[in-house]
Amino acid sequence: MNEFNEINELFTNEWLQFIEFTSMLIQHILAKLSEEDQVKMRQLFESSKLGKEQIDFMLSNAIIDEEVQAYFEICMNTSKAHGAKKDLKQAFKQLTIAKEHDLNLNLNEAIVHYNKGILLLDLNSKELLSKILTERAKILEQLREYEECLIDIEDAIKFSCKTYPDLDQFKKDITEKLIGYNLKLREEFGPQRNRLNICALTENKQLPSASSLVKMNYSPDKGRFIQAQADIPKGTIVFAEEAYVKWLKPSQYEKFCYFCIKKITLRFFPCRNCTNVRFCCSNCEEEAWNKYHSNECNYLGVLKYFSYGHIAAQCLLIAGIENVIEIEKQTHAELSKWPKKEFKQDYHTFASLCAFDGDWPYPYNFTMCFAVLLVLRLLEKMNLITKQSEDYSTIGYIMIKLISKINLNCYSILNSKFRHLEALNVVSHKETNDGIGTAIYLSASLPSHSCDPNCMKIRNGSMLILTSTRKVKTGEEITITYRPHFKNRSFKDRQHYLYENYSFKCKCNACENVWENIGYSFKCPNCEGPLILNSDKTNYCVECSAANVISYDDVIKQYEESERLIRESKKLFAQNKIDESKELLLKANQILCSFYSHNDQIAIDYLLARCCELQKNYREALKYAKQVIKKQENIFGKSSLEVANTLLLCSLLCDRYKKTFGGIFQRQKRQEAKLFREKALNIFKCFSKSEIRVVSADFSHYLPYVIHILRKYGDEYSLNYCKV
Ligand SMILES: [Zn+2]
Ligand SMILES: [Zn+2]
Ligand SMILES: [Zn+2]
Ligand SMILES: [Zn+2]
Repeated sequence: MNEFNEINELFTNEWLQFIEFTSMLIQHILAKLSEEDQVKMRQLFESSKLGKEQIDFMLSNAIIDEEVQAYFEICMNTSKAHGAKKDLKQAFKQLTIAKEHDLNLNLNEAIVHYNKGILLLDLNSKELLSKILTERAKILEQLREYEECLIDIEDAIKFSCKTYPDLDQFKKDITEKLIGYNLKLREEFGPQRNRLNICALTENKQLPSASSLVKMNYSPDKGRFIQAQADIPKGTIVFAEEAYVKWLKPSQYEKFCYFCIKKITLRFFPCRNCTNVRFCCSNCEEEAWNKYHSNECNYLGVLKYFSYGHIAAQCLLIAGIENVIEIEKQTHAELSKWPKKEFKQDYHTFASLCAFDGDWPYPYNFTMCFAVLLVLRLLEKMNLITKQSEDYSTIGYIMIKLISKINLNCYSILNSKFRHLEALNVVSHKETNDGIGTAIYLSASLPSHSCDPNCMKIRNGSMLILTSTRKVKTGEEITITYRPHFKNRSFKDRQHYLYENYSFKCKCNACENVWENIGYSFKCPNCEGPLILNSDKTNYCVECSAANVISYDDVIKQYEESERLIRESKKLFAQNKIDESKELLLKANQILCSFYSHNDQIAIDYLLARCCELQKNYREALKYAKQVIKKQENIFGKSSLEVANTLLLCSLLCDRYKKTFGGIFQRQKRQEAKLFREKALNIFKCFSKSEIRVVSADFSHYLPYVIHILRKYGDEYSLNYCKV
């Protein structure tokens, strides 16, 4: 799970370039200013919190104004030079090529050119668009991509002025094929779905996107927080929320729907005006257009440089500038009154979120202000504000506040994939680590941080889901991690990170008791106890209190080498080079002997078991699988689901092992397999479906076997899992 190593998605290459540029610019500006102004500017940016003063200073200074204007024009010109425009002539050219490929049955090539053509097409000619979409749909039909095909047909019907009876018939045919195709897939591969089925949420009047098992509460020292109002079993969905604002990285514009962040695979729907972004269907295009894209569309080439500024601008556009000024003028309802109200998804709620109130580092704070000034200039271009009006600076202050809120409350959007195995009600949840954007969730911003949280985050496109990772008792607070977890960072590192990024001293249970990250520590050279490594390179032994007895850099180098070996061995494994893969794993194992890196060691033993299994060396495979069980028992407990999954693996290995023998030995192995299986089934019985869903996800390789075993040997209780 990558829960623990999130990265800040707002730091795109463009933003880093922008920071670099503004760091130079501030020197350049300082050199030009009068002595008096120099002192003032230094004072403003070197040691104060970001706010009104800085914006006022920058807005009133003619030299800065000139620089803003110059940079703004450079951005506009480069984006004009690079951006392709709608071009009907080019579009027809592409569509002709597409047609040729279509006739020659180069279907995939045809799709590529249809896409290029559609991107350049002017959406004013609706009849033409409808015709092209129908043509693309026909190819998708031949490719058996019925779901994608259906979206094109529906859009074709929407844009067609005449009534096409054949289009309606086409839709009917494809719908039938889709049903048939899904049934066939189901027979062949078992029921699988890409979307997470959220059925666990029941109505919550106070928090519309939360389960009725939780409520919002208020206390003077904590502010608003989320509390369980009934016992919540492990694996329960507590929140499932759509983003209030979502921002896609510019490098991902071609790969995801700009509005709903759904992955673009074969086809897409274009923006009516630009060729920069793509949508999954015309509905997303319309919604984005009406909410904010109509204003920003022509300026994406400029906005992409200042990620924070872009999100702040989107917030303003979605809520409406006049509305925002009005709401910001009102005195806010005291936070203590919030638990009595409905928590609506609107700007009013967004305005009530906490903001980062620490010091922004110098000259990064200048970068932020410069971004705000550029957005102001853009809003002027969009005819939404005028420089003469007094709202001009007000919007500037509001944007600084917005940026502080975004900084504190944003979540990364990850490119996550779901595999839904209904038979076991198991969600195998694989998140790749590439973040594709950032989102703000209003109610999911309420849970507090703990280094030992009781809920975890799961993403599905721009939707955020929080599920419980253990049983939560009535009255207990719902917590998530804002990145540090006691199992992935030392006490010192956690405190440091949270103070730097969220300006608070963590007093969670794990921190009050100074829980250390023993699972990733080095073995103390004096007493073999866990030696804790801090990222400031200090280290100390939990057992004998020895301090700084090893070289941090050397240890990290060793650890990285073991990681490299594991990566390489996985590659070899995928290429079916089992012997070579195993050799590297054994080397990595040797290095990790001097670490208490349980998770890595479990991973290695598990991989070794698989290598041996493929080499048909079942005896050794069993040895490694049993080692996995021992370590899992230490970490997760003897009757944990982790152990149950590995027990089933052992039983599978015994089953295979027995076939290589005859007579009495075979009987012995059969007996052993049965014992493993029964132990596993006994553990499974104690858990609910949803618990199995969370834990078994890591063992997806053996899931078909788990299902098979439960079906074949499980009693009535476990048979419930197998019902399709
Ligand atoms: Zn979409
Ligand atoms: Zn556009
Ligand atoms: Zn803590
Ligand atoms: Zn020691």
